[in-house]
Amino acid sequence: MNEKLSFVNPTANSPWGTYLSQVDRVVPYLGPLARWVETLKRPKRALIVDVPIEMDNGTIAHFEGYRVQHNMSRGPGKGGVRFHPDVTLEEVMALSAWMTIKTAAVNLPYGGAKGGIRVDPKKLSLQELEKVTRRYTSEIGIIIGPHTDIPAPDVNTNAQIMAWMMDTYSMNVGGTATGVVTGKPLHLGGSLGRVKATGRGVFVTGREAARRLGMDLRGARIAVQGFGNVGSVAAELFVEAGAKIVAVQDHTGTIVNTNGLDLTKLVPISRTDGVVGFKAGGDIVPNEDFWDVACDILIPAALEGQITAERAKKTTAKLVLEGANGPTVPEADDILAERGVLVVPDVICNAGGVTVSYFEWVQDFSSFFWDEDEINVRLDRIMMNALNQIWDTADKHKISLRTATYAVACERILMARQERGLYP
Ligand code: NAD
Repeated sequence: MNEKLSFVNPTANSPWGTYLSQVDRVVPYLGPLARWVETLKRPKRALIVDVPIEMDNGTIAHFEGYRVQHNMSRGPGKGGVRFHPDVTLEEVMALSAWMTIKTAAVNLPYGGAKGGIRVDPKKLSLQELEKVTRRYTSEIGIIIGPHTDIPAPDVNTNAQIMAWMMDTYSMNVGGTATGVVTGKPLHLGGSLGRVKATGRGVFVTGREAARRLGMDLRGARIAVQGFGNVGSVAAELFVEAGAKIVAVQDHTGTIVNTNGLDLTKLVPISRTDGVVGFKAGGDIVPNEDFWDVACDILIPAALEGQITAERAKKTTAKLVLEGANGPTVPEADDILAERGVLVVPDVICNAGGVTVSYFEWVQDFSSFFWDEDEINVRLDRIMMNALNQIWDTADKHKISLRTATYAVACERILMARQERGLYP
């Protein structure tokens, strides 16, 4: 086999390369299980599909779609579906691998998977979006299912898209299979608390990290990159706890107000016009200036690779909460550590979403639904237990929270791998 041509080899500066170097860092802490580590460096299965649809103007458009099942040693694959023009197979591989680590870090009975379509959904009509979603679901239908691989929302996908996915899969199997996706609308087997779960998890882990750092959340200055499902919910919860949001960046630009942005106005405006639509509430500044804004907490909640070495050198934050997946490149991770900036890594920080997805899946199977308080109490408990265990591991080995999270997670995954053994 020609190793150089293998699709598991990363291209320069890619999220998959970031993931592989994160795995390399954990090997010294795996003991005899290190023998199995190669299992984490290649996806179990990757499917590339053509998604042809008839556009509203009568032309035929083709989009490329992916579903990657990185690891299923501990249970069915679990992970979102991203609609974005820059999605690639390699990116989806990285996102699926981070799901493997994440589900193991919070000890959910899942493996890791992820999907995506290379499409700009903002350029599609609602009808075209539905067609893309349904055809993609049908194409990946051969590998997803309530007991095999359960998709969920990610960037640019939402409850409506999950409803179409659930319906398409159900039509193909001739029944109603609510458990095939999570993040569904409430009356279709969705769970209370799911929409806000990821942002809530960012808040819960951030509040605990701040407490351990001796940082008072009252008056703390926070900069948030990405103001969608994750970023805006986390921002609202921190404001409720007394913090102020001094800078927000989304795909439309960056807005800054050192006295704190008024979220009651910014959130609704950002949904239609982006954050730059709230000119009245702050100063619109060039995007690169976002990284210079004086802050105590930085929440990257947009895309991968945003905290580069340069940006890590200049941030004034003492605490970074990784709402996004893979926002910090490995070189920047080292710089932040040297500068004494604490990073709560994505694989624990944003695990609230998959945790409530798990609750949704469990509720669907039992057809018995919990109230929101129960969901939030259970979510808090799972996130806090996971974080405390990771913190203990970090203290014990004197390693970063990221490497500690990987140590806890990889041990669980590779132990399962070892106990199951290799087939045949
Ligand atoms: P979303 O589509 O709701 O929001 C994405 C936000 O990022 C938007 O505000 C968008 O304007 C902004 N953005 C996009 N490109 C940008 C750019 N180049 N610069 C600055 N901002 C940009 O998506 P989301 O669900 O909030 O996901 C955000 C991140 O959180 C992703 O990395 C995703 O994988 C991760 N995540 C999401 C969930 C979830 O439950 N939704 C769970 C875990 C992790």
